[in-house]
Amino acid sequence: MLGWVIPPPKKPEKTQDDFLRERKEKVRWLIEHGFLRSKSIIKAMLKVRREQFIPEVYQDYAYLEVPLPIPGRESTISCPHSYPLFYEALGLKKNDSFLEVGAGSGYGAALAREIVGVSGKVVTVEIDDEAYEFASKNLRDLGYTDIILIHGDGSVGYSPEMPYDKICVTAACPKIPEPLTYQLKPLGKLVAPVGYLATQDLVLLEKESESTWKTRIVEKVLYVPLRGKCGW
Ligand code: SAH
Repeated sequence: MLGWVIPPPKKPEKTQDDFLRERKEKVRWLIEHGFLRSKSIIKAMLKVRREQFIPEVYQDYAYLEVPLPIPGRESTISCPHSYPLFYEALGLKKNDSFLEVGAGSGYGAALAREIVGVSGKVVTVEIDDEAYEFASKNLRDLGYTDIILIHGDGSVGYSPEMPYDKICVTAACPKIPEPLTYQLKPLGKLVAPVGYLATQDLVLLEKESESTWKTRIVEKVLYVPLRGKCGW
């Protein structure tokens, strides 16, 4: 993974108590560094056990600020701070209908499920066969049976469940895919890393009406490339 130093695989040694302590410390760090503010996102990050979305040989590194390899071509679980970075920018909240492009480990979808609640909806799309199986197993094992996990090309969104209040793309796009803007509700928001090579711009798009929107850059980020029709 270009630009990140991934620690070596090893046999896991940490206990549930170690992970709980590290999770609480991580949340405190994210708040202190300005990544995390909203009560419901804080609650979700304290609840969802990130280590359970990580292959055993990398589990002990669950709360390090690095993306970690998961099954699949170039698939990763993103680094911890990227989830509040994306979800705070989106203003993800209770009742939202949410689409994630790039399910990866399923961790981002599980967090989103906790945030939008049972009256909201989470749809997540994964293109890679192995990553899809991994996300599917993780979500099933943890009881997230009401997350709609789709195996397919999310660069064109997922029209059967549109329109969405919020959309999050977790792979780097050449530009914001038009089908995603279309599948967003008026006043809806979308975040996506845009660009290639060493870093990308995390772009926030806010839809003002059915056919007008504005965009701004939130941050510099580093993501794996988006595949598919509107990818690279
Ligand atoms: N959100 C994930 C991390 C995603 S890593 C998590 O929480 O773990 C990016 C993922 O996007 C990879 O698994 C990659 O296979 C997937 N991806 C790339 N192009 C895609 C596309 N067109 N549609 C759906 N998924 C895609």
